[in-house]
Amino acid sequence: MELDEVVNKNGEIFNLISKGESLNIFKEIDESIETKTFLKLIKNDLDILNLLTNHRSNMSIIDGLNFPMLFSIDINAQTDFKKHFDELAEMNIAKTDQELKQLFKKVLPDVLEKISKLPTKTKVNLLAQTRRGNLLNSFPKAIENLKPETREELLKEGANSIAGEIIPTVLSFVETSKSWFINFGLEIRKNIINASNIDEKKYEEIIKKLENHYHVIDPFISLYWCEKEHEPISFYTIGSRMEGKCPICGSDLLKCTLYHFKPNIIKLLRANEGLIKCLTMFLVDESGLLWLPDVYLEGIKGDTEKDIVIDTENGKYILIEVKNYAKDQTSRGKKQNIDKMMSKTLNHLRKYKEHDIDIEKVYSVFNYCYDKSLQAHVKRNLKTPKFSDLNLIEYNVVGIDTLKNMKVEIASKG
Ligand SMILES: [Zn+2]
Repeated sequence: MELDEVVNKNGEIFNLISKGESLNIFKEIDESIETKTFLKLIKNDLDILNLLTNHRSNMSIIDGLNFPMLFSIDINAQTDFKKHFDELAEMNIAKTDQELKQLFKKVLPDVLEKISKLPTKTKVNLLAQTRRGNLLNSFPKAIENLKPETREELLKEGANSIAGEIIPTVLSFVETSKSWFINFGLEIRKNIINASNIDEKKYEEIIKKLENHYHVIDPFISLYWCEKEHEPISFYTIGSRMEGKCPICGSDLLKCTLYHFKPNIIKLLRANEGLIKCLTMFLVDESGLLWLPDVYLEGIKGDTEKDIVIDTENGKYILIEVKNYAKDQTSRGKKQNIDKMMSKTLNHLRKYKEHDIDIEKVYSVFNYCYDKSLQAHVKRNLKTPKFSDLNLIEYNVVGIDTLKNMKVEIASKG
């Protein structure tokens, strides 16, 4: 529920403007039962929160695209497969250019027809992506190396995949070799495992949970191969994964899968300040109070953006500052981030005090676990003159492990 004005102690009214993307993102959250359910559930799931509140730069290794992806691989395939696989890649690249172009021509009208039936908003997104990714030129090239049956599957899935805005991404790697694909996936995997400070086993568990329990990721491309001593065999599937044995020796195939997030979740992960901000907005809204994100006081020069302002309905207001940091930091780096966060929060508080706006509480929400060492650091800061003004109001720091209690705290004092 939107807050449109703030009234100060003297009865002066300040109109509010929301300038960022958050209000639109929140409206989309609010319209989607799946997204709301997801947010409601994950606030209690620290593993999921830990992984998905990573900074955008850790969610993807594609520069500038920040397209969040996860990569799962059989644990027993991780020893010396790379060397083995490089040889495979050289031998298995199919050259069926002509055949594919024919196929593409044949199915294109069908794909276009499916696209034409998509909702308008999806179509607009799709067109924007098409212009950027030069979709129609690249598509035949992209599926060149696939087996006929997987090609069929790709085309069948085409409309859905395109709707998910993933075509530009698929183009960038399906046309490359399998060893490139697997190394690309491993890098994504390593990047986010390190940033989240978890092990490979935990990472695979989280992927399973996101796929089978929360239903927010789908297999995108899977690669299968056999490492036994016989002529090399390997192939891709697009979309759903298959269970299968090696057609030559009958052993279980090894596999790896690149997952993509469903479009409504991608928006949350790619948002400024990412999932932590979206989740905070969701919890604030659950309190039933009037609030607004990305707030400026209209007509006030030099006003800074407040992440969230809440009306407590007793003439007082709550300010929330949300920060989404890269997590692969030393403990010193984290403490420096806390200092910056507290300084910024303090500035916000002072700006409102200048206008006699009565602030009851201030929250700094961030995407770290608010552990003992960080708690001690905040406590020390609050004892210094620099931050002493934060003691004049109720000041709370909230991490991913304590975020779930936020609604309760606001409601109980509101
Ligand atoms: Zn085999």
